[in-house]
Amino acid sequence: MGTMIRTKGLKKIYRVGSEKVVALAGIDLEIEQGEICCIVGQSGSGKSTLLNMLAGLEKPTKGTIAIAGKMVTSMDEERLALFRQENLGFVFQSYNLLPQLTAVENAALPLMFSGMGKAQRERRAMDELSKIGLEDRAAHRPSEMSGGQQQRVGIARAFVPRPKVIFADEPTGNLDTHTTEQVMEAMLDRVAKYGITLVMVTHEPTLAACGDRVVTLSDGKVISNEYRKKPGGGEAESDDKFISNEARKKPGGGEAESDDNDSEEAI
Ligand code: ADP
Ligand code: MG
Repeated sequence: MGTMIRTKGLKKIYRVGSEKVVALAGIDLEIEQGEICCIVGQSGSGKSTLLNMLAGLEKPTKGTIAIAGKMVTSMDEERLALFRQENLGFVFQSYNLLPQLTAVENAALPLMFSGMGKAQRERRAMDELSKIGLEDRAAHRPSEMSGGQQQRVGIARAFVPRPKVIFADEPTGNLDTHTTEQVMEAMLDRVAKYGITLVMVTHEPTLAACGDRVVTLSDGKVISNEYRKKPGGGEAESDDKFISNEARKKPGGGEAESDDNDSEEAI
């Protein structure tokens, strides 16, 4: 089990007019391969910003991100797009399905540039839809499906290319409790089956409890890092893995400069 994601000194500062908004104030995080890592925190604490940085959708102001041993923060746009396509999946709160496409066409979309033919792409998508209990909705368009069904299509779409990491930002935020359970079960089942690393933002404590670990953000910093169980159930965790980010915090909102003494860049 190796490190899948490693960030060092990750900062994001937005400029709004003459104001500076510090969305991320220096995040050092390591996420193991196969780990289910939940990110919680109050609204505005930086959860979505962190997820978007990790997923390569936005550039950090400062700091580095390595995923699967590759320094994604050093990649140019083209390389990053390819890396995302080959390694990363996304599940959005608002599903983001294309309205004119059927469920199976939506789920097959990430394979568009894979070199596979249409029939094979749709077979893969169909297979994923049936595993998630949606085979009878394959020919339906998003407007003909419930929210829970649409999100399951969104999940199938994320899993179809077998990414190394899936990022999910409040994936059940628009769903009722019962549907949330179904959707989460489907997602956790696929993650475990394929050994995929899941990084999920949620504001629901019951969902966060499903994870191997809960990272709490406040004002763009990690304020707690709590392991529920060992990723993969195996290796013992040494105490220094329980990074005390409290210790990094300086009073007065000063910078939490990276005090890393290991200078290795690659994972
Ligand atoms: P969360 O997902 O935890 O609710 P966000 O990551 O969306 O929080 O936002 C963190 C902070 O960054 C907030 O103060 C928010 O207003 C600010 N922010 C996020 N995106 C932008 C943006 N595009 N421009 C300016 N400020 C932003
Ligand atoms: Mg958010």
